[in-house]
Amino acid sequence: MPIQLFLLVFSFWLIICTSCQKQSPELSVTSEDKTVKKEKLPIHQKQNNLNIRESKASENDKLILTDQEWREKLTTQEHLILRQKGTERPFSNEMKNLGSGIFRCAGCGNELFLSSTKYDSGCGWPSFYDVVSKGKIDEKIDLTHGMVRTEVTCKRCDGHLGHVFTDGPRPTGLRYCINGTAIKFTKDQTEK
Ligand SMILES: [Zn+2]
Repeated sequence: MPIQLFLLVFSFWLIICTSCQKQSPELSVTSEDKTVKKEKLPIHQKQNNLNIRESKASENDKLILTDQEWREKLTTQEHLILRQKGTERPFSNEMKNLGSGIFRCAGCGNELFLSSTKYDSGCGWPSFYDVVSKGKIDEKIDLTHGMVRTEVTCKRCDGHLGHVFTDGPRPTGLRYCINGTAIKFTKDQTEK
């Protein structure tokens, strides 16, 4: 009887072991697959994200640079205003009496304001009552400094330009209060 019992237990043990061995390779394959997927997916996704980022950039003509690249491209003051949402001192760069021309983003060259819409608001910063087109800028609520303001950024490079207020002259009633450092003037070639 003990021998029979031993054989019975041994045979059970064998069956269990065999089934274990059958399962274990499958399990290891599954876990390998998972490992492979885990290793490959992020890289794959990363590449996809890069592709999406690049394709979006080309579609919208976006200029996307790293902070280091911006620092190399811009002056310290331009970086402070455009990339860190700084504000230049009032009456330091009103860009008056420049003649007829166009004001472009100092970060990316995007055409933003026409000299024909520039006026003296007395606020100490270059002021315009309209943009070249709404598609050139983005507007977002700015709650900093205990105020509710509408920030204006360049649509192409997301550079901070200034703010827009509703106390401007006709026909729009808007006052785009823009840092002179954030824009560059190009004089009309036809004008002498
Ligand atoms: Zn720009």
